[in-house]
Amino acid sequence: MTKHTISPQTGILGDVFACDCGAVLADRMTAELHSSENNQCTVCLGSAEEQVVPGLMRGCTACAATGRRKEQITWQLAHAEATQVITLSVVRGIVGELDGPFHLSEIADLVRDGLGLPAGRLPVGPRVRDLLLDMQAAGEITMLSAPDELLDGADVVLYRDPQWQRARTLGL
Ligand SMILES: [Zn+2]
Ligand SMILES: [Zn+2]
Repeated sequence: MTKHTISPQTGILGDVFACDCGAVLADRMTAELHSSENNQCTVCLGSAEEQVVPGLMRGCTACAATGRRKEQITWQLAHAEATQVITLSVVRGIVGELDGPFHLSEIADLVRDGLGLPAGRLPVGPRVRDLLLDMQAAGEITMLSAPDELLDGADVVLYRDPQWQRARTLGL
């Protein structure tokens, strides 16, 4: 079976993309088309990895690090479903029950249990994180964690399992 993993190449003609099958693809759009025709993820072009910043790779989040188009589509649908099912009021309700600081993973578990979602079917963690960041931006909660990884020279901070606490209302 021919593999169709595409990697960017820097050559004398500028940036091109080379596929393991031997095809040379002139630009990003052509590369994505070739990926999709060969059932590869169009975000990582089949490599299953994505570059966060130069020098730091992690598993492609679009295809659950499989490199395959089928998983990419399944995951896209799952993301859309998670956005519909896990709403701000669900997360706010759970956070409202908590007195002490809480981790992202704890809230994600409570959401999963509360909604009866089987583990691994929906991207609960990323969705809950986005909503908690919204609440943080609105001043409802405060982030307590220090970042796990500060990348020098890049404007990127990674939090693996951040911790927040509810902001106290004055007078309580
Ligand atoms: Zn190919
Ligand atoms: Zn991918």
